[in-house]
Amino acid sequence: MRCCVPYPEPEPLRQKIIPVFLPFAGCPGRCIFCAQHAQTNTPPRPLAAILETMVRQLEHLDAENKRLELSRTFDLGLYGGTFTALDARWMDAFLYEAMRFTAKGLLRHIRCSTRPDCVSPALLKKLASAGLHMVELGVQSFDGLALAISGRGYSRKTALDACAMVRDAGLELGVQLMPGLPGADKETFQRDIETVCALPDLPQTLRLYPCLVLEGTALAQIWRKGGYTPWNMDDAVEALAKACLAVWKKHIRVIRLGVKEEETLARAVLAGPRHPAFGDKVRGTALKIWLLETVRQRKPDGARLAMVYAPKRLQGAFWGHCRIFRDEYAAYGIRPDNVRFHARPDFAIEYTGDSQRRSVNG
Ligand code: SF4
Repeated sequence: MRCCVPYPEPEPLRQKIIPVFLPFAGCPGRCIFCAQHAQTNTPPRPLAAILETMVRQLEHLDAENKRLELSRTFDLGLYGGTFTALDARWMDAFLYEAMRFTAKGLLRHIRCSTRPDCVSPALLKKLASAGLHMVELGVQSFDGLALAISGRGYSRKTALDACAMVRDAGLELGVQLMPGLPGADKETFQRDIETVCALPDLPQTLRLYPCLVLEGTALAQIWRKGGYTPWNMDDAVEALAKACLAVWKKHIRVIRLGVKEEETLARAVLAGPRHPAFGDKVRGTALKIWLLETVRQRKPDGARLAMVYAPKRLQGAFWGHCRIFRDEYAAYGIRPDNVRFHARPDFAIEYTGDSQRRSVNG
């Protein structure tokens, strides 16, 4: 018997995003866990200097396109601060320049990140008509208690309303969550994921940044006094893997797992689940959970697993980081000699002991 089963993770988008970091710009305060300069390897600079660098970078890419007769397009991400709380003149200036390069055909998509309590229907509509395509909301959690203990300064309702406002303005929505916030446990995170999956208008993307203790933050002081314990690596990887499987079923792309590795980040992390291959660990674990469950569910009585054909794009994650899953897979009859990688997007699983051949989708 042969089962063909689609893997739930949406195909990753290959479009390159040019990040423009505006560390802490527009932020109403400094959140207890946040150290933008360490996370982005970008020291705070005047907005005029950031804008000038952005324009120079886009001019360079545009000139390169022309010189080499390329037709590359890019997305632009205005990150690292609270874009929608900037002085209106700065929002206009960044979007004006971005639109100039959109008109030249260099930029395809413009997004910004902001906080749920710094958006309004009128502002979002204005930004949409000025050329913005997407807002990524740093929700961090939908849990009222975790938000209060973490001093985020807004409620679950504010976060939910902000998600709805973004979609109502005709913009794409990205949600950022921070599992392991002070006051949030694994159940809190699971409820947050259920909330995301139950939003009336689903987000297009999700970023998951497990809470880290970074030098120079208020959280570091709390941690030093014993008032905060971050998640350990195994718990974080497993919780995020299960979260990925849940949101993938809703066709939500998970575009970031863990803070991007920067030299400055490695130096600043005091505690918490950080690893250079954190995303691979989570993706590999999600794949393992899904595959073992699928193999178990589809196995006909008395049959034995014969072959697994997996999509080629999953080859790197398949056996886990440092091939950690080999023994666990072997217990289910999945071994290097009966796994092949093929160009198809779905899995094909073959069992022996049943001569019938059928195809199952779903
Ligand atoms: S978490 Fe967001 S709102 Fe808070 S300080 Fe950092 S960039 Fe600003």
